Parts: sequence; C-alpha cells; structure tokens
Amino acid sequence: MGKSSKDKRDAYYRLAKEQGWRARSAFKLLQLDEEFNLFEGVTRVVDLCAAPGSWSQVLSRILIKGESFGRSAWEDRFARDRMAAFGLPSPPEEPAETPQLKPRKDVKIVSIDLQPMSPLEGITTLKADITHPSTIPLLLKALDEDYDPSSPSAAQPVDLVISDGAPDVTGLHDLDIYVQSQLLWAALNLALCVLKPGGKFVAKIFRANEVDLLYAQLRVMFARVHVSKPRSSRASSIEAFVVCEGFQPPPGFKASLENPLGPKSVPAKLEPQAPLRTVREDGVTVLDLGDEEDGRWIAPFLACGDLSAFDSDATYQLPKDRVTLDPVQPPTAPPYRRALEMRKAAGGAYGKTKGV
Ligand code: SAM
Repeated sequence: MGKSSKDKRDAYYRLAKEQGWRARSAFKLLQLDEEFNLFEGVTRVVDLCAAPGSWSQVLSRILIKGESFGRSAWEDRFARDRMAAFGLPSPPEEPAETPQLKPRKDVKIVSIDLQPMSPLEGITTLKADITHPSTIPLLLKALDEDYDPSSPSAAQPVDLVISDGAPDVTGLHDLDIYVQSQLLWAALNLALCVLKPGGKFVAKIFRANEVDLLYAQLRVMFARVHVSKPRSSRASSIEAFVVCEGFQPPPGFKASLENPLGPKSVPAKLEPQAPLRTVREDGVTVLDLGDEEDGRWIAPFLACGDLSAFDSDATYQLPKDRVTLDPVQPPTAPPYRRALEMRKAAGGAYGKTKGV
C-alpha cells in the first residue's frame, strides 16, 4: 500500500504527521485525557510498551513543555462539514483559543518497550520486556537513582501508569487475545509496584470473553474503573482502554517485586472481597463485588470524542492542495530491515537476473 492510500483512508494517520506525532495512537491518549482529565496534578509517569513513542510525546509536550493542543485548520473545516451534515451547530470559524498550560516542576517520565525508541527530550527510555521480572528493578532504578534493592519501599511512587501494549497480531484471535492479556497483566503488576495511593492506571485491552471478570478484578484495586473507546480507535477493532482511578490497595496489600498479585502480597482476608462470578441459568455472567445493592457490578463504558472529531473508520475527501508528508519517526529497527539488507547484498530486486 502506497503512503498516499493510507493517507486517504485514515484521517488520524494524516493528522499525526501534520502535528508531528510519531504515531496516530497519540490521539487515543489525548481523547482519553479529554474525557478523564488524566494529567491533572500528574508529574511522575511510567509509559509501558511505548515505542515508537507518541504517548511519550504527549506526556513530554503536556507535562514538560506545558503545551496544549488546538485543532489544525483542516480538521476544523471537516468538523464544521460534519456537524452541518448532522444538522448540529457548527464550531466557530476561528478555533477557540487553547488554554495556556505551564511546564510542570520535577517531572519524571520513564518509557519502556521491547523495541529501541528514538530519544525524547526529558524522558528516560528503557529497552526491556515488561513481562520479565528483571524489568521491575530496572524501572525502579530509572525512577529513582538512589533506589536500593535491599529497601524497595524507598522507591518514589508515580502518579500514572499507562500501557498501550499490543503483540504482533497473528490473526489467530484467541492467541492474540491471550498474549495481549498477558501484557495487560504484566503492566498491572508493574503498576501495583510503583503507583502511589490515589494513582491512575490506563491500559489497552482487547474486549473478549470474560473481560468483565478483568474489570471486576481491577475494581478491587481502584476506586473507579471505566472502559473507554476513543473516537480515534477504529470501531472495527476489539481494542478499548481501561481507565482505573483512585488506586486503593486493600488493607494488608503489600506490593511484591517477585509476585505482585501472588499469595505473598495479597492477604488472605482479601479473598471475601474478591469478585465472585456466577453464570445464571440464562447464561449471563454475574459479578459480585459486594458493593452494589443487587450484588452486580458492571464497568461503565464510555466512548470519548464527540461527533466533531474525525471518525477513524471513515474516508474523507482531501483538499486538492494537500501534500503527503513523510512519517515523523521512521521505525528504528523494523523487522523487514534484514530482508532489505539481503536484497541489497544480492544486487537489488533483480540482482539474480542481472546480465542474463
Ligand atoms: N503507545 C505507543 C505509541 O504511542 O507510540 C504505541 C505502542 S504499540 C501499539 C505496542 C508496543 O508494544 C510495540 O512497540 C511493542 O514493541 C510493545 N510490546 C509488545 N510486547 C511487549 C513487551 N513484552 N514488553 C515491552 N513492550 C512490548
């Protein structure tokens, strides 16, 4: 697929290049922030599965540089057309003035990915596997230079952990869902080790069977749990995000570096609070957290982004004068690099037939 065809298909892909984001995922985090005010009072953040780094860019621009984001001119024009099509009042011709933010003090952002990530000013990047136990001390050291493994509780806690983890999708749904859930689990384990009480955890999930049980489990650790689908996340994708606020470890809970949710860290008295799941005669799974009158707790689902935002599944008419831009950050270690090198060494695509 040529770059112009992807340009035509995906408004957020185009917009990401125009606004200097390394990936269109930036808009997912921005739209989640619009809905949940994620960055309020936040200075210490861990970004898991962060490459190529558009979420880290969002963190850097908002927290370190104090930038705020208005619409680009053509996004605004499309917004007006779309609102008119729905018979809704149009946004003003001139985009509303964006609020002025200030750079924050003592910001600490640590980003981790399996893939190498091009550096971003003010951000500590680690190349590591979030599912591996050795990553936890690495992260704690990155968060706090004075971190001493013999007294782990001394590590300074963080306000927000975000994770956009996704495996290389195979197309085998059950396998993809399983691997993604392992990433989510690893992200939660890391979050439990570093979050301060009241902290937030935001993570990508694949909505699949039994996901309601996961929401209920998260609810044991957080005061508020929502499932959210930003408008920039394609409707055709099973992807959504859990937004967990108000970290409140149950009494007696002690994060353990080796096994954060294991029997050593979760006290036995937590068990009665754990969600119970029963399947009713009509086949509906009922979760019991004991805090609702009818014994059920269902995670609220929120779509974020209003009708004036681009629809990620729609194709838009492009302005005639539009220029196709190159990606902001080409992949640092693409899996196809070796194939390109081999082809070059063989004298190019037609190397073998040369001179025939
Ligand atoms: N949030 C990123 C951004 O805005 O640029 C995009 C993340 S991308 C959708 C998913 C990332 O998960 C990939 O870069 C992949 O390398 C990473 N990943 C997958 N498994 C991982 C693991 N076990 N440990 C660390 N990163 C992992």
